[in-house]
Amino acid sequence: MKQIRNNVIRAGLGALYFTGAHHLLRPIFAGVGAIFMLHHVRPPRDTGFQPNHHLEIAPEFLSAILAYLRASDIDIITMDELRRRLVERDFSRRFACVTLDDGYRDNRDFALPVLREFDAPCTVYVASDFAEGIGRLWWVALEMVIAKESTIEVKFGDVATHLDTGTPAAKQAAFDRLHGWLRGLPGEQDIQREVSALCARHGVDESTICRELCMSWDELKPFADDPLVTIGAHSITHCNLARQTEEIAGHEMATSRARIENALQHPVLHLAYPYGDRIAAGPREFDLARAAGFKTAVTTRPGMVFPESAEHLTALQRVSLNGNYQDERILPVLTSGAATAMWNGFRRIDAA
Ligand SMILES: [Zn+2]
Repeated sequence: MKQIRNNVIRAGLGALYFTGAHHLLRPIFAGVGAIFMLHHVRPPRDTGFQPNHHLEIAPEFLSAILAYLRASDIDIITMDELRRRLVERDFSRRFACVTLDDGYRDNRDFALPVLREFDAPCTVYVASDFAEGIGRLWWVALEMVIAKESTIEVKFGDVATHLDTGTPAAKQAAFDRLHGWLRGLPGEQDIQREVSALCARHGVDESTICRELCMSWDELKPFADDPLVTIGAHSITHCNLARQTEEIAGHEMATSRARIENALQHPVLHLAYPYGDRIAAGPREFDLARAAGFKTAVTTRPGMVFPESAEHLTALQRVSLNGNYQDERILPVLTSGAATAMWNGFRRIDAA
């Protein structure tokens, strides 16, 4: 199903490009700027099964994007400056922000050198447990279990089911099924429990994943001191905030902010909601983020920045730079707003 959707979206992006429809949509949907969303930036791997591949782009693609933005005379600005332009209604020039979620070490090793080449600032949203080395990146753990086995045993409730994971296609199908099931479970601790059980059954050590992929506080300190880098918050545990009680959701936001400020000695004024989609962040979270003192907060809802985004500074939409569509020809489509308009049902602002 995901593959079909990917193909439709790819055909859609291609169609938008080849028909030139993005030129027609630009005046309505391009807005005044865009916030790009990235996760990993690292050289591609050549293994067949990469179910989290949408979360990574190659350094060369980041370079192509920044070159395109510069050539298009679009300002690349910080989230502080984005807020200023929205609040002061300063839309004389188009702008773009580069944001990276989770705090991966490859952001330092592969993204920062490219950003430096273009003198482009970025905001990196850190989940404080990830920096602590105790975070749980369950989607990576799930990938590791399925990658190493040709069949896996899953307990959907009380029913033990064996899933074929013998071929790349079977592995992808099993991943999609389990990923969907896990994200539908009532609580974050339910996801963690099921993934831990799966790891234990299949001999995957999930405790090392976080330290292998994420920057520690000691690594974040010099990274945060780089003039191009702003550090934002991304909760403590990387949980689905909308599924928490109001008290816990507020605590996840405010305490992650305090921990990062304390460790890095920089003010933390910007937030990204973990997962960030409709089921993970809604109006209650948008209010809580404001109450916790964040000047801006970004979702993963697709969309550009519009003048009216000034009224929704804690519900900002982003444009995903998806690893499955690393084709320079889509860049005019992405910056026209046509792609995000297509994805969100042709709405400008989606903050409800
Ligand atoms: Zn995240």
